[in-house]
Amino acid sequence: FEYAPAPESPAAAGDIATSYGHFIGGEFVDSSGSEALKTVNPATEQVLASFAQGTDEDVDRAVAAARKAFADWSALPGSERAKYLFRIARIIQERSRELAVLESIDNGKPIRETRDVDLPLVAAHFFYYAGWADKLDYAGYGAAPKPLGVAGQVIPWNFPLLMLAWKIAPALATGNTVVLKPAETTPLTALRFAEICRQAGLPKGVVNIVTGDGRTGAALTAHPDVNKVAFTGSTPVGRAIAKQLAGTRKKLSLELGGKAANIVFDDAPLDQAVEGIVNGIFFNQGHVCCAGSRLLVQESIQDELLDALKRRMGTLRVGDPLDKNTDIGAINSAEQLARITALTEIGESEGAERWSPACELPGTGFWFKPTLFTGVSQAHRIAQEEIFGPVLSVLTFRTPAEAVEKANNTPYGLSAGIWTEKGSRILWMANKLKAGVVWANTFNKFDPTSPFGGYKESGYGREGGRHGLEAYLDV
Ligand code: NAD
Repeated sequence: FEYAPAPESPAAAGDIATSYGHFIGGEFVDSSGSEALKTVNPATEQVLASFAQGTDEDVDRAVAAARKAFADWSALPGSERAKYLFRIARIIQERSRELAVLESIDNGKPIRETRDVDLPLVAAHFFYYAGWADKLDYAGYGAAPKPLGVAGQVIPWNFPLLMLAWKIAPALATGNTVVLKPAETTPLTALRFAEICRQAGLPKGVVNIVTGDGRTGAALTAHPDVNKVAFTGSTPVGRAIAKQLAGTRKKLSLELGGKAANIVFDDAPLDQAVEGIVNGIFFNQGHVCCAGSRLLVQESIQDELLDALKRRMGTLRVGDPLDKNTDIGAINSAEQLARITALTEIGESEGAERWSPACELPGTGFWFKPTLFTGVSQAHRIAQEEIFGPVLSVLTFRTPAEAVEKANNTPYGLSAGIWTEKGSRILWMANKLKAGVVWANTFNKFDPTSPFGGYKESGYGREGGRHGLEAYLDV
């Protein structure tokens, strides 16, 4: 059927400079090197801006600025630090349209998601951790836990501003100072956040942003004057960082990949389950570490559920991220598109059956149709490896025990979903599933009060909630 596109204006993103340096010691500064990278709009392939490839010297300057700021920042009463975080949270709310549009342009995600999910959660994290800043004496009166010092934080491209909030809000609330490196395909909202730090009057050096690719990330995580490393990204890079840090006294938390099972029992309300499956894997183009990328469906309802799911997939709109009707935006980069394409080709060559609804993809930009694989066995690579795209692998089970066994049968353990009307079964399953988050009759629900993190190859440490504070404290 026809629908009228309702596009958000790209101009709402505010001024985008042609080139950016770093944000160090409260100032926007040039890099010591001359290498620059470019960030493109993945929906149009147009270059948005160039930005600095951070050198070792840049990282050194940023860590020194954070170290200098640490003495005063950590000595501030928590109630004073809280005021800055509340101020940042409010500015984010005031500027949320601008930030949402900028994020959608740089990342490719639909404006409906940046507007209704990312930005409200970004503000919520700053509000939530602002509330903790003066309540950190939970070790007992007068025995406040101590901040660690300078935090080196490296984040991925799938939720650029939200990952920044997950990292920066708890670090600042607990009295640490920060050097953060955004991903090389999505630096723009982190650099805009630097402006917000200035607008909030945050003391110089408390937050520093250094851009660049993995080389800059490695220089930051290896820096001897960094006390805490917080990394979100792929499992291979997480493993490399863990090796790099072995033998140092740095504290490390890792949020890595996932291959979550979304488990649907025959008593589940089918329409709700279908919505949950669609949200689980097609939200944010499937660029979600906790995406429900494996559907485990009880054998008796397999045909009925897959028919309903295919019908629903046929209504998903793929296209312009700034169109408010869009469900699935652009794939973040040509590299990621190539990775998704390669793994789906492997899926076909392994014998799984591939299906996508008929839909037209725009001519330029990076796009991938919502894709379903049936006839998948546990040994298939598309059942084991993270695809990080809009691709769902369907497996079946007969009994709850078999569902648990299959759900746990990957190297990952970040999240899982259960769809059933039986409360006792939910509790039994949740205990058996080796996953840091288990959703029941919903999926991909996030809240700053709730800890998030993985088992096994999905990483260690928790972000969010009270547990998220401990990553930044010596308790
Ligand atoms: P990536 O590991 O390639 O990159 C992540 C970040 O690490 C980027 O900023 C990159 O520049 C930097 N980096 C690369 N090499 C580095 C090195 N040797 N040392 C230090 N930093 C380095 O991952 P990606 O492709 O950007 O992101 C996708 C991955 O992130 C997926 O596997 C996804 O599951 C995971 N992820 C996990 C979570 C979570 O909370 N568990 C959240 C979002 C994404």
